[in-house]
Amino acid sequence: MSPRQPCRAADPGRRVVRPPPPTVRAERNSLAPGPQVPCSAASPELRWTRETERRGPGGADRALRIVLLGPPGAGKGTQAVRLAARFGVPHIATGDIFRSNVDQGTPLGRVAKRYLDSGELVPDDIVIDIVSERLADPDCRHGFVLDGFPRSAPQASALSRRLDELGTPLDAAISLEVQEEELFQRLAARARADDTEQTIRNRLRVFAASNHPLLRYYEQRGLLARIDGVGDPDDLTELVVARLKDLMAHPITERRRSAEVALASMVGR
Ligand code: ADP
Repeated sequence: MSPRQPCRAADPGRRVVRPPPPTVRAERNSLAPGPQVPCSAASPELRWTRETERRGPGGADRALRIVLLGPPGAGKGTQAVRLAARFGVPHIATGDIFRSNVDQGTPLGRVAKRYLDSGELVPDDIVIDIVSERLADPDCRHGFVLDGFPRSAPQASALSRRLDELGTPLDAAISLEVQEEELFQRLAARARADDTEQTIRNRLRVFAASNHPLLRYYEQRGLLARIDGVGDPDDLTELVVARLKDLMAHPITERRRSAEVALASMVGR
């Protein structure tokens, strides 16, 4: 699907515009860094064939389905773009979807604008509909990197339900962790329309209120990897890939059991 093309929306009256693809290093299905190419060259839509359908993106023998958690300014977008290109799966950023719709003045954009401008969360039902629709697209069949979703416990359970329906469970939730002081400096140095001081403060407040239940949700399910988000972005990508490999080397049932044991021992202390 070409960028900016409207996609289906749960509400037929709503027209949803998709953000254009970014330029990134294409490192698909390789643990070694690749050449600098436009993301569209690695875009699953463009290189999707019968063979990739059968074997997974780029010939991989398994899919990658992850969510990136973390505060505004933690570097989720940067890492999400790299991971998506490396594993040949789409990068789905709810913030980008909303910003594109605001820029294009779509009905969704008109609704979302006041939430983006104030730093509040767009209501769960709207975000959940958009992501649920997007996940059913063929390019998500062998995976995705979700960036900025889920952001609340209802969004996390809606995502699990949707993935259960699709028969494609999540592999991991990566939480990028950065201290608030550093975040504020990073965000203040960015030039995004919603990066005003007041909005930044509110987004950090909203994040602080909603993050703990999300971490618990994924920890209980044996899906959580918490990673220090400070450092060189290239090193951080390698760290995330290494943690993913570690996590995915163990079956989910085993990971869930160890999470239960760890949580039970904390309660018993
Ligand atoms: P950041 O991580 O820097 O806050 P994003 O681009 O992820 O930036 O999000 C920008 C804004 O888009 C948020 O402040 C919020 O208003 C809205 N938004 C994005 N994702 C969600 C979501 N999953 N649920 C509700 N609102 C969202």
